[in-house]
Amino acid sequence: DLSNAIVAQDEMGRPFIIVRDQGKKQRKHGVEATKSHILAARSVASIVKTSLGPRGLDKILISPDGDITITNDGATILSQMDLDNQIAKLLVELSKSQDDEIGDGTTGVVVLASALLDQALELIEKGIHPIKIANGFDEACKIAVEQLDRVADALTISDKCNLLKAAKTSLGSKIVSKAHDQFANMAVDAVTDVADFDRKDVDFELIKVEKKVGGSIEDSELIKGVLLEKDWSHPQMPKVVRDCRIAILTCPFEPPKPKTKHKLDISNVEEFKALQEYEQMKFQQMIDLVKASGANVVACQWGFDDEANHLLLANGLNAIRWIGGSELELLAIATNGRIVPRFEDLSPEKLGKAGLIRELEFGTTKDRMLVIEECSNTKAVTCFIRGSNEMIVAEAVRALHDSLCVVRNLIRDNRVVYGGGAAELTCSLAVSEAADKQKGIDQYAFRAFAAALDTIPLTLAENSGLDPIETLSNLKAKQAHENNSHLGVDCLGKGTNDMRELFVIDPLIGKKQQLYLATQLTRMILKINDVIISGADDY
Ligand code: ADP
Repeated sequence: DLSNAIVAQDEMGRPFIIVRDQGKKQRKHGVEATKSHILAARSVASIVKTSLGPRGLDKILISPDGDITITNDGATILSQMDLDNQIAKLLVELSKSQDDEIGDGTTGVVVLASALLDQALELIEKGIHPIKIANGFDEACKIAVEQLDRVADALTISDKCNLLKAAKTSLGSKIVSKAHDQFANMAVDAVTDVADFDRKDVDFELIKVEKKVGGSIEDSELIKGVLLEKDWSHPQMPKVVRDCRIAILTCPFEPPKPKTKHKLDISNVEEFKALQEYEQMKFQQMIDLVKASGANVVACQWGFDDEANHLLLANGLNAIRWIGGSELELLAIATNGRIVPRFEDLSPEKLGKAGLIRELEFGTTKDRMLVIEECSNTKAVTCFIRGSNEMIVAEAVRALHDSLCVVRNLIRDNRVVYGGGAAELTCSLAVSEAADKQKGIDQYAFRAFAAALDTIPLTLAENSGLDPIETLSNLKAKQAHENNSHLGVDCLGKGTNDMRELFVIDPLIGKKQQLYLATQLTRMILKINDVIISGADDY
């Protein structure tokens, strides 16, 4: 289309074409804008939808540099998709905020939000104003949340049994499924070790997650202490030291060197021997000072040569060398020790204390790590994740994160609702019931909201290879008939729909958050009726 084009001439008289349109702002307006947003959201949601639930499928994501991620986690899938649609980006933000607040339910929230938008589209096409719809959805959301409060059960969490089961459920659909028990145990132990049960809070700063490629998922372990990427300085030192008293040193294990420009002249054997003896004596002095303080482990910021290393071994001292500044600090904090700059300053009360230091070896690689456990000061723990390749390790870390979050959420608030779509179904029934009592336009919005809630059990059924419509209508009828809010989709074919029996639970705060966030996002998108994408200015 050349109607916008003008032909101009440059100073040399050569013609060129200016196409005006290119710099123009793009603009969509009114219902058309809203509709196009909803369609964009739908296409994003259709991608994550198939990964919902324990039978959900994994996605493989390839970055522009060719890095590969395999995952089932909604937030991760969305964050790695290269989206240039603004509304699609809002969905990404949505799953991110669910992830930040709750850490779980990131796929569900996107599926719900897009279902709400789909329903809204139908109402818009009936001629209902978007703001009316948004208001109706807000009201319906309130009713749904009240229903959640009503059906929530308080879980006993004083023994670890329930926490374990909950952690296991959250791992349900993740790649680590063969190491379920182990990962669930790791999550529960990690959280309960650092949890403050009086304040009902868990400081995630105290749970470090370290990963190392190699070995298998089953080699992952929880380390109640600190992990250093170091080994003992001499291969013959014992691999395990108990009752450690650690001298944490920033001074080198070296004889004092002649400073700067002075040359050391050695012209005969006697002089060389004298020098050697002098060095030996200096080493011995240092070692004596260390031993006098009562230390049996030396952690040194600097290196030392073979001579010193040998002497340490001969004196029964285990040593670690080249510890980085921050690691040295971490070690000092964890073991309640002081960092000592000179051998003369060593004293028993400055030593760090730990029950156990052991060296980990990794298969055929030369990699080693030191584990410092039973530290005197810190509650910190480290989840040490292994796996045969980077993708597996990364997905295992994400899965662990989910179950850490579930356990933390239960410690914060022990009320739960039931999964497999059971909670959504009971909310849907409650909202439908309320719709019947409404007179105005709100009843349409209520029905639409209820239908959106149904999408969760529908999707779960579909992903598990069940007939979605049949499953949904059966469940609905049963829930209403038996007045039982525990009935959900039997995704794994266990032979019962009772989610309480199967212990498929979701923390109440997580489920509420999903409803709030999805409703808020829908309102936000429905309110936008103008998109102006700025281009270059017109001239
Ligand atoms: P999200 O990222 O939203 O947590 P998931 O893929 O973990 O998504 O799926 C969670 C959904 O699967 C929840 O609705 C949960 O209730 C359901 N679910 C998990 N395990 C089971 C199970 N064993 N049986 C039925 N539903 C389950």
